[in-house]
Amino acid sequence: MNIIRSSFALFVLTVGGLSLAARGPRQAPAPRPESGTPPGNLQPQERRIQRTVAVPDALANAYAAGTRNPDGSPGLEYWRLQVDYVIHATLDPATSVVTASESIVLHNTSGDVLDAVRMRFDQNLFREDAASRMDIPNHTGGMVVTALSIDGVEIPVPTGPETNRRFPLPEPLAPADSSLIDVEWHFEVPLDDRSSSLRMGRWADSVYQVAQWYPRVAVYDDLMGWDTASYDGVWEFYNNFGRFEVFVDVPAGWLVGATGALLNDPRTDASERHVWHFVADTVSDFAWAASDRYEWQVASADIPGRGEITVHLLQTAASTAGYPSLGEEVSRYLEVYSQHLIPYPFPSFTVVEGPELGMEYPGLIMSNGGGPLAHEVAHQWFPMTVGSDETRVTFMDEGFATAMTSLLSSYRGDTEPGPARLQRQYGSPARFARFPPLLPADDPDAQMTSYGKPRHMLRMLGGVVGDSVMWRAIGDYAAAWKFKHPSPWDLMAFVSNAVGQDLGWFWHYWLFTHAGVEGSIVGVEPDPQGGSVTVRQDGDMPSPVVLAVQCTPGGGPARLSGPGYVLDDSTVVVTRPVDVWFPGARELTLDLDIGCEIAQVTWDPARRFSDQDACDNMWPRGSRPVFVREWPPTARVDAELSCG
Ligand SMILES: [Zn+2]
Repeated sequence: MNIIRSSFALFVLTVGGLSLAARGPRQAPAPRPESGTPPGNLQPQERRIQRTVAVPDALANAYAAGTRNPDGSPGLEYWRLQVDYVIHATLDPATSVVTASESIVLHNTSGDVLDAVRMRFDQNLFREDAASRMDIPNHTGGMVVTALSIDGVEIPVPTGPETNRRFPLPEPLAPADSSLIDVEWHFEVPLDDRSSSLRMGRWADSVYQVAQWYPRVAVYDDLMGWDTASYDGVWEFYNNFGRFEVFVDVPAGWLVGATGALLNDPRTDASERHVWHFVADTVSDFAWAASDRYEWQVASADIPGRGEITVHLLQTAASTAGYPSLGEEVSRYLEVYSQHLIPYPFPSFTVVEGPELGMEYPGLIMSNGGGPLAHEVAHQWFPMTVGSDETRVTFMDEGFATAMTSLLSSYRGDTEPGPARLQRQYGSPARFARFPPLLPADDPDAQMTSYGKPRHMLRMLGGVVGDSVMWRAIGDYAAAWKFKHPSPWDLMAFVSNAVGQDLGWFWHYWLFTHAGVEGSIVGVEPDPQGGSVTVRQDGDMPSPVVLAVQCTPGGGPARLSGPGYVLDDSTVVVTRPVDVWFPGARELTLDLDIGCEIAQVTWDPARRFSDQDACDNMWPRGSRPVFVREWPPTARVDAELSCG
């Protein structure tokens, strides 16, 4: 392991060979830069390719401490807090108030002596005086804490609207020791009859989705210490893992669904109130829902590598009738994602209806069956299993969940992206390329950088390393960081190592810049055995060279004389690694021997590389392009590209 002390340690750089074929690419002569001469014997460059990612101090320190490894895996000294909860909660539908008490055991697994604990009171978001960025339809009194003690010492209860507060510990908490925190509180579940995306809420006095509902210990990690972020209603959470044992007391006749395994069925009990008992061994959060209007249906998912789990559907009659295939859909999603990544880890899965139509919690989503169901199920892997910091780094959960839905296309038997969508999508990555996903989450374009751009980032990564290779690497990353807290630098290094490629250039341009590739075909000079093809990249981001090359009718069969794929008798896909751009030219000429005269060429036939103008990707201009869906390519997709 490297001990890195400099404040900007760089990823170890492996310069790949240029992999030139016999009639390989030749660099177009680069014009001299406008001013200045490079030192030594370096060639002047039209485009300088950045191939490394700077590592922040926090990561360098973690490498030195052995908590994280420079290869992106958790270190031998890796630790995360373990925070265990026992919670008793009572719902009173007459007032919509949840009254609860909890005992929290905070295990100090760090090597640090803790002199304080930070706790979060997310429900305060709904107070009138909260610093909320969310449009709150109905304010409440927030989280009213009535008793708080730490290690038996009573602490003055917090009364302000803050959602993240620091409490000095009565005695410093030594490494390997634990603190006991007891809290009593109550809150009104916010009324939300217009589906305001509150991530929880109630319909009148009969359907309750309950989340962000218990005082919890904030994350303390090896990179930044205590998480001091407040909950502003926009960006999500960064949560500790731990064991939850939760008792939910509701009127008899009500049904309760929750994170974790249900340990009893109180419905046979003759008393007026029923206590539902749930346990979840290792989860980062606990949510529940209760209603006297729910119908309870079950389905079964056969998780590869694990076996059967029960899928609970708690839906009103209208939704049960409206989405009859909900259980089947959710079960298959759990199975397909498990097969491609790692097995779904929680004991059961529950879908609860209410005002929130699309929100994820461990082992539970809030949904009526409509909305982005596949996306919400995908969140069970990111961030519920792989516990990244959702508050500061949204692409690691939202972007990954968005990209994961592409894994369902074979299960769904659909042709997504179909020709029409494919045509629209051809140039679309450029729309998302303007802002890097690692921008702060309060960026006005954060929706784009959290969802759309990372989806295209992973589409391009698949186009560089192969789709199945990429998903295998992401699955290995999920296994390595299961129930842990990876940073973006861990992700970058892990995936680079897992695919065996130096992807420093890829991460740099996607995560830290607004660059695109902007590839085009400058010209083709056919000859009887093929011809020369000149390609150009106007963007700052490089990409491999990928060209679909077609023979003149009656020519062929087409063949390869360098790296690539034979698509059919008259078409080959020629590839060159990204390394061909590293010397710094913007144009590259490939002399291709394909056994027949070139009739048509398509740049980037798998449409993976960020590009605003797709119409300069065909030679001759206006010719019908070759499209492929998968990478590596298997078959052509018949699609038009209309260029005005
Ligand atoms: Zn999401």
